[in-house]
Amino acid sequence: MISKDDITKRFISYVTVDTESDPESDTTPSTLKQWDLANILVAELKLIGMSDVSIDDNAYIMATLPSNVNHKVPTIGFVSHFDTTPDFTGANVNPQVIENYDGKDIVLNAAENIILSPDYFEDLLLYKGQTLITTDGTTLLGADDKAGITEIISAMEYLINHPEIKHGVIKVGFTPDEEIGRGAHKFDVKKFGADWAYTIDGSQIGELEYENFNAAGAKVVVKGKIVHPGYAKGKMVNSMYIATEFINSLPRMETPEHTEGYQGFFHLHNIEGKVEETVLHYIIRDHDMNHFKARKEVIQKLTNAINEQYEREVITIEIKDQYFNMKEKVVPVMHIVDIAEEAMKALDIEPLIKPIRGGTDGSQLSFMGLPCPNIFAGGHNFHGRYEYVPVESMIKATEVICKIAELTAKKAIE
Ligand SMILES: [Zn+2]
Repeated sequence: MISKDDITKRFISYVTVDTESDPESDTTPSTLKQWDLANILVAELKLIGMSDVSIDDNAYIMATLPSNVNHKVPTIGFVSHFDTTPDFTGANVNPQVIENYDGKDIVLNAAENIILSPDYFEDLLLYKGQTLITTDGTTLLGADDKAGITEIISAMEYLINHPEIKHGVIKVGFTPDEEIGRGAHKFDVKKFGADWAYTIDGSQIGELEYENFNAAGAKVVVKGKIVHPGYAKGKMVNSMYIATEFINSLPRMETPEHTEGYQGFFHLHNIEGKVEETVLHYIIRDHDMNHFKARKEVIQKLTNAINEQYEREVITIEIKDQYFNMKEKVVPVMHIVDIAEEAMKALDIEPLIKPIRGGTDGSQLSFMGLPCPNIFAGGHNFHGRYEYVPVESMIKATEVICKIAELTAKKAIE
């Protein structure tokens, strides 16, 4: 069906263009270099024969594959992001193609002794005998999410070249700046015009996700009083000790390193402290909306209790919601998950349906009116030098996209 060579070539042509995003920037896209790949993608979408190919002032790309049936079919969309994370460099990516992987250590970089080993990354053993694309150990790969882009474009090309596969209107959307949490911000859901969509931005083959965290950030500012330490008795208030009290009053086991599955947490990810002022940065996560609200209350009540104890406002807290669990927007249209599951089963892929311990563009899009579960793109070890993607998984993801299109058209008659 889809050739390994073609998909490998396409993927490599994308990952070798640096598209690192930048959280410090206020522009969209956050970095000018994202235009480099955006412009290539626009040209390629036109070249394969997509209609209404557009790119707006913020580098959001949209395109349409018209329906090839006469009956009415819901319009579906597929979405990926073309930026890569600022956590690790994406400049000068030099992909290594390892054919017929033997299940042993892969030397990414002999000079620096950087090894991708199944002793540490057991997932590798799932792909024995397959073709892996890895880094050279000095950069990330960018399978997150250029694998998704490769798969969507390859699927559209396949559908265009195989008109015997019947489908409704398909929309394609590529966004900048997902990795800095802004991929969906300027996504024009109305212009996109799909009834529902899928982000192709998951990891291992089979992943299908429609639940993610509810998320908030909390900034806790603790005020102390600085006095010369030699004359401080009864006068100095050391904000760092009060901050420690605050930290120790939250449940120690409800932290990322002690939780999994549906367990939520408080995560202290940054402290800046001096006697006069200490600032704590927390993120709060929970899949369950009631638990999520309760967590925000816990942290607020703790603030109040410490302020009462000191008989003044030693702590101020600012809690900001970041994103919400898409589940509540997807469950009422659960057939969109069922179709993806059915597509995978039809292709002998075992669906791995599990809650995301994070967020996706799809969660924001779901709350903007475009229900949007997430499907595997095939890569592993995102955001670092050990990132890799099996070519066979990319082909499977491409097939899943085609199959979803086909099933959606079929079900519209039934
Ligand atoms: Zn991603």
